Amino acid sequence: MVKQLICINCPLGCHLEVDDSDKENIKVTGNTCPRGKVYAISEVTAPKRVVTGSVPVANGDVLRVSVKTASPIPKEKIFDCLREIKATRAVAPVHIGDVICSNVCNTGVDVVATRNANKI
Ligand code: SF4
Repeated sequence: MVKQLICINCPLGCHLEVDDSDKENIKVTGNTCPRGKVYAISEVTAPKRVVTGSVPVANGDVLRVSVKTASPIPKEKIFDCLREIKATRAVAPVHIGDVICSNVCNTGVDVVATRNANKI
């Protein structure tokens, strides 16, 4: 089956065509660089996404801090990941990059803070 994708690895946004009829030899065209081919193959075989959200903070100068997965996780784990983020509470101080949930949903990926919260 031939699929059309837009590469999201850089602002050029190359229009990719992926033919995965032969799973052993997936064909990618339209990529300007090798990263586009890697992205396209990953997208049709095991798509992943970075998940973002926010968690409440106790004793902080802000009520919530934004968080994200440190790297993309399998697409099918997104809702479980969001549930785990929703159930999580942080305690100030929180620094950008602090691990808020480790190994979220057994993906091997941590959820990290993307905002600071000072202790009050
Ligand atoms: S294929 Fe390469 S040049 Fe094109 S959008 Fe992707 S990363 Fe950028």
